[in-house]
Amino acid sequence: MARPARARIDLDAIRHNARLAQTLAPDSQLMAIVKGNAYGHGAVPVARALADQVDGFGVACIEEARELRDAGIHNRLLLLEGFFTADELDEIDRLRLDVTVHSDYQCHAIEQANLSEPIAVWLKVNTGMNRLGFAPEDIPGLIQRLDRSRLVSERILITHLAQADNPGASTTKDQLARLEKLMDQCSNLPLSIANSPGVLGWPATHANWIRPGMMLFGANPIADTQPGLKAAMTLESAVIAERRIEPGDTLGYGDHYRANRPMRIGVVALGYADGFPRHAPNGLPVQIDGHDSVLVGRVSMDMLTVDLTDLPDARVGSRVEFWGSNVPIETIALECGTIPYELVSQITARVTRTYSY
Ligand SMILES: *Cc1c(COP(=O)(O)O)cnc(C)c1O
Repeated sequence: MARPARARIDLDAIRHNARLAQTLAPDSQLMAIVKGNAYGHGAVPVARALADQVDGFGVACIEEARELRDAGIHNRLLLLEGFFTADELDEIDRLRLDVTVHSDYQCHAIEQANLSEPIAVWLKVNTGMNRLGFAPEDIPGLIQRLDRSRLVSERILITHLAQADNPGASTTKDQLARLEKLMDQCSNLPLSIANSPGVLGWPATHANWIRPGMMLFGANPIADTQPGLKAAMTLESAVIAERRIEPGDTLGYGDHYRANRPMRIGVVALGYADGFPRHAPNGLPVQIDGHDSVLVGRVSMDMLTVDLTDLPDARVGSRVEFWGSNVPIETIALECGTIPYELVSQITARVTRTYSY
C-alpha cells in the first residue's frame, strides 16, 4: 500500500462555489484566481473544471500562465503582478496574456515592446492596500500615455481590498470612496475590485469583474457567516501504528505533550514535510473514521500523533481527516494561528492529490 497522505479535491465543489460567486454578482464577469497552483488544489485540473464556467483566470506569474496554456486552457489569463522584466513581453505576446501594470517600469517596457498585437492592460490603482499600484490621481495621465503607445487594446482598472474580511472596518468604504472620485474621470473603463470577501460581503465592490480565489476552494474568509460554500480539499491520512503510553510519558519530540492518564495513541503518516503546520497545538480537532478526536504531541516531519483512547474501534488503517467536509478548515486555521489560504497553499507535492468530478 502507498503512503496514505492524500488531498482529495472535489472539483464539483469548486464548480458549485464558482456558481455561488456568479449568483452573488450576476452582472459581473468572473476571473477565477488560480495562483499558487490553485491554492494548492492543482492549477490544471481546477482550470479545466472551470474553463466553461468562468471568463478568465488570474495567476501570479508567467510560469503559472505557461502551465495553463500548455495544458490547453484558452481562457483569458491575467498576470496579477504583471511582468517582472521586459524580456517576458515576447512570451506574454505569444501566450496572449493580459497584464497588470502597477509600476512605471512596466509602462515604459510596454511602450518599447515589439508586440505582434496590442495587449489588454489592467491598470492597478492603489486605493489603500499600499502594496501595488498607482495613486488614483496618476491614472488619467497613464491612460493617455498607454493610448499613445498603440500597443494596448483594452484598459481595465483594478484595485485590491485590504480588509474586506472585516465587516466592521472602515477601510473598504474608504477604498471605495477613493475609487469613486477616480471613476468620475474614467467612467468609460471597466473596473475590478472584489476578492472573495468582497464578493461575499460587499456588493458595492462587484463592479465589472470579480476576482475570487479562496472562496472557490470553499473556505469562508468572513467569520460568523454561512454563505453556503463547499469544501474542495479534504486532507487525510491514516493510522500507521498504535501504542499505549502511561501517565507522565511524553510523546514524540520534546515534552510538548505529557500524558496524565493511560492513553492509546495513533501514529499518522502526515507531517510538516507534507505542509501540515508544525506549530499545530495539542487538542487540535481531527476526525478518525468519522469520530471526533484530537492531535496530541508535536507534529514531526513525516508523522504526527492522535488520541485513540476513547475510540476503541480505531486501529492501523483508520482514516484521519485533518480538514475538509467534516473538519472546517476555518477552525483549524484559527487554532494554528493562520488563515485557510496558508494551510492549503503549503501542502507539498508529496501529498497525493486525487480528484473527483
Ligand atoms: C490573490 C488575489 C485575489 C484573490 O483573493 P481571495 O481573497 O483569495 O479571493 C484577487 N485579486 C488579486 C490581485 C490577488 O492577488
